[in-house]
Amino acid sequence: MNVLERVVEFLQSKKGKQFCDKCISRNLNITPDQHVNHKTRELEKNSNEFERTQDYCSECKKHKKVIRIKQEMPSSAAATDDADAATVLAMVRLCAAAWTPEARIVGNVRAGDIVRALDEVLPQLSSVRSLVGADN
Ligand SMILES: [Zn+2]
Repeated sequence: MNVLERVVEFLQSKKGKQFCDKCISRNLNITPDQHVNHKTRELEKNSNEFERTQDYCSECKKHKKVIRIKQEMPSSAAATDDADAATVLAMVRLCAAAWTPEARIVGNVRAGDIVRALDEVLPQLSSVRSLVGADN
């Protein structure tokens, strides 16, 4: 297993926690720290799974650059990426329905009008709605 893989595996095993490069180095017995730093920067740049920010390290409690696994969206909330039109619109409707109808949430459009419009133009929506849990 190379250093990058070890760092990924470490972070995945500590879900919900965030670590500075030094603490990752220490946990994995990798020296020098810069070696880990190089990998966490690589993850920051090239992986959607991780995020790297200035925050408190879960281990040493110092405020510095830390890396963590991004918080997972609820499964229904990530289903719109490159999805078909009905699924995308169903999720928009789900979001709109969660607002008070008077709230102007997209541009100047009220949430209630979004729900009404989508219900009107998408006769197949009801099946999609149950798919994404909008009927709950
Ligand atoms: Zn630390």
